[in-house]
Amino acid sequence: MCIYNYKTIIIPKGRQFMKATEVVAKLQQQFPHQPEYIQAVSQVLGTIEEEYNKHPEFEKANLIERLCIPDRIIQFRVNWIDDKGNVRTNMGYRVQHNNAIGPYKGGIRFHSSVNVSILKFLAFEQVFKNSLTTLPMGGAKGGSDFSPRGKSNGEVMRFCQAFMRELWNYIGPDTDVPAGDIGVGGREVGYMFGQYKALTHQFVGILTGKGQEFGGSLIRPEATGYGNVYFLENMLKTRGINLAGKTVLVSGAGNVAQYTIEKLIQLGAKPLTCSDSDGFVYDPDGIDADKLAYIMELKNIERGRIKEYAEEYPNAQYFPGQRPWGIKADIATPCATQNEINGEDAQKLIDNGVIAVSEGANMPSTPEAVKIFQDNKILYCPGKASNAGGVAVSGLEMSQNSERLHWTREEVDNYLHRIMNDIHENCVKYGTQADGYINYVKGANVAGFLKVAKAMMAQGVGM
Ligand code: NDP
Repeated sequence: MCIYNYKTIIIPKGRQFMKATEVVAKLQQQFPHQPEYIQAVSQVLGTIEEEYNKHPEFEKANLIERLCIPDRIIQFRVNWIDDKGNVRTNMGYRVQHNNAIGPYKGGIRFHSSVNVSILKFLAFEQVFKNSLTTLPMGGAKGGSDFSPRGKSNGEVMRFCQAFMRELWNYIGPDTDVPAGDIGVGGREVGYMFGQYKALTHQFVGILTGKGQEFGGSLIRPEATGYGNVYFLENMLKTRGINLAGKTVLVSGAGNVAQYTIEKLIQLGAKPLTCSDSDGFVYDPDGIDADKLAYIMELKNIERGRIKEYAEEYPNAQYFPGQRPWGIKADIATPCATQNEINGEDAQKLIDNGVIAVSEGANMPSTPEAVKIFQDNKILYCPGKASNAGGVAVSGLEMSQNSERLHWTREEVDNYLHRIMNDIHENCVKYGTQADGYINYVKGANVAGFLKVAKAMMAQGVGM
């Protein structure tokens, strides 16, 4: 990442154009301890600068700062009681970034690494992602440094209830609708929904990713992973390549990784790896449907560690403390967390002949890695486009809740497929370069930005 010396930066007043490096430098001065946020902003601004400057009215309205700085950040203390009766304290946050095109929408992350910088980067990215889905959703993100790992069910429930006791007043079905993310799955969403209902006496679509029995949408658990693979298929098609028979490196073993693997198997590809924060497993025979069922049971029910896979399937190898990017394969799809592919990893993937990288996670590739992918002209798509299927189906869950109807699996999957195709088409429209190479980063950023910018301009300076 570039480090700018802010002391040399003076942005002249009344100028009619925006310079991305100057804006990033100014933000770095204002928020010096937020590297992930600065990284995300820097990556987006570099690609929208040209389009932005075609509209002098944007600069006059100071649109760029209004777009980069969240509308508000709600920060609170969460007190909860563990199984031994001790009172424990964690931090809780909600970053409401931009609601120009719809109510704030974005996941909640429970992980020990959560801080304001990470949530600001995620909320900023969410604005563009939600815009790309074509559905009316603004961008937000929230979470806590509480980690469900190693906690009992009762502890997780008490934490979720305490978290919602602080958050409930700032959210609502037409205001801000959270969902899951790392560490927040169906169990946590259920507990938070129950607490919201208890506090407000209202049964409304306040969260998405709910259980089927109380307003959840079919295909929501699958949506991010399935959408990721639908997008990957579209990218491969631009070069006449079929997914069937291709070997794929997957990282993570949570929601996104599981359903990415499921769809890859259904479409005839061969996933070779998956991981958790302790290491990765490599199965040269490929992860098939039975093995995936084992992973789902292990991670979702038993809440075990991925190394147990190698004990269950002796042909597989476990690599503690490592990431899977050194294994030879045709395709890579990071589905764990941010900055999990660095420049060195990216070079290994290229040297091993990878043809496509489709991001299931948010910002899993560092700027150095992205540059290597693009310099080598492989198919590379940023998460804000390829993992937008999750929030898209969350948007469909909101629609179903509003009309008090439940759509069939097929209906939702068809919508998801269509939305992923539309996002791909938009990326091609705004990202195709003179030499024919599709810069999916630019395409996704410009397409996502334009809609939000036009809505902000139309609504005046109030927010
Ligand atoms: P889960 O909590 O279900 O799974 C996360 C997986 O990633 C786990 O295997 C976890 O391992 C691993 N992981 C988490 N942190 C790290 C780390 N620091 N280093 C290595 N591995 C790590 O989360 P999701 O699958 O929901 O989310 C994964 C990614 O996808 C995130 O970037 C999220 O923002 C993004 N995403 C999720 C969406 C969704 O619908 N769920 C929508 C769009 C994007 P361990 O068990 O050891 O913690």
